[in-house]
Amino acid sequence: MTVLPDLGRPPDIPPEAMATATALLETGRLHRYAEAGGSGGMAAELERRFARLTGRRYAVAVNSCGSALFLALKAAGVRPGDPVLMNAFTLGPVPGALDHAGARPVLVEITEDLVLDMADLRTKAQASGARVLMLSHMRGHLCDLEELHRLCGDLSIALIEDCAHSLGASWNSQPTGSFGVAGCFSFQSGKHVNTGEGGVLVTDDDDIAAQAILHSGSYMLHGQNGTVPPAEVMARWQGFCGNYSMRMSALVAALALPQLGKLSARVADWNASHDRIAARLRQAEGFVLPNRPTAEAYAQSSLQFRLPAFSHGQMRAYVDSARAAGVWVKWFGISAPEGYSSNPGHWPGARASDVPRACTIQATLCDIRLPLGMTAPDCDAIADILIAVADTARKVKHAPA
Ligand SMILES: *Cc1c(COP(=O)(O)O)cnc(C)c1O
Repeated sequence: MTVLPDLGRPPDIPPEAMATATALLETGRLHRYAEAGGSGGMAAELERRFARLTGRRYAVAVNSCGSALFLALKAAGVRPGDPVLMNAFTLGPVPGALDHAGARPVLVEITEDLVLDMADLRTKAQASGARVLMLSHMRGHLCDLEELHRLCGDLSIALIEDCAHSLGASWNSQPTGSFGVAGCFSFQSGKHVNTGEGGVLVTDDDDIAAQAILHSGSYMLHGQNGTVPPAEVMARWQGFCGNYSMRMSALVAALALPQLGKLSARVADWNASHDRIAARLRQAEGFVLPNRPTAEAYAQSSLQFRLPAFSHGQMRAYVDSARAAGVWVKWFGISAPEGYSSNPGHWPGARASDVPRACTIQATLCDIRLPLGMTAPDCDAIADILIAVADTARKVKHAPA
């Protein structure tokens, strides 16, 4: 019998990253700034690399993607009580960033392909008067980002992209994070670069970059940032931006930098596993997988599928038996939040009743993580279990939810 891979295994820390981190530890200089004329070190280097990678003028390294999302909202002018649009398929840190900024979430529907529903966006934007959309590229599924860019222009909405699951993904060769006024990335261990915690905000906008740098807690040392707006822009914001201490530590930057060089190899590895398992599930009875448009180049470190004919009881039986068979399946339709699961019914201030279709879709939506380094037999063994367990769960009587 094949030993199944641990689906929760995070991306490995490359030996170069350990060497750089150890060298840094020996200096003790783990804070990114130095009063006596530092050069910005690893954090500044990471910002320059990240700006190049995403094709943006500025990158600001912070302590998490949740912080980056909050800073983006704040810098985009969101004030307490303001409505902010967000797609209903996302994770807790996104409504959490709205909560942090005091914003009122306005949920927008998703399609069966798990992406933002543009028609509902138009309706909800007009009804709410919201001026900002925080779009999560949840689980790496991209909507038509060119069409969205035009629509946001039409509706005078500023787009903030949550790229926690889309580092390395692009639409018509344009990287995610470069379509909106700001893009936010995560280095939390379950994402594409693993430093435990960490985040980056990217933007082309002088004023957003200046506010993010100052709010992140740059003291008067922003000259040491990797990408900084002109002095007169910094001076304009200096007295208006409180120091929130959301900086990235130099140690995190040291761990992240060597991983960026491995990103394309990682993406190829993840996509090979994803595509192999997805191809099997697409053939199997009862499974529905999202369509992926040709304009989308994904970086799929997880896999999503629906079992739309299943009742709540059958879904519960499916998830339990898959786990018992060694495949840790997650379920977006779960009633009480569990682990990292999250759905509109779980977020403070959000009204799940505004997005009935998203709730129906998520009721039978499942998810598995894909660790790096899976072999073809590993993928086949996982697909076998996911399919066999569906046959068993199908026989469970339709129990009341
Ligand atoms: C993890 C995650 C975030 C937040 O990232 P942190 O770095 O943990 O704050 C935001 N959005 C989504 C979709 C995520 O999965």
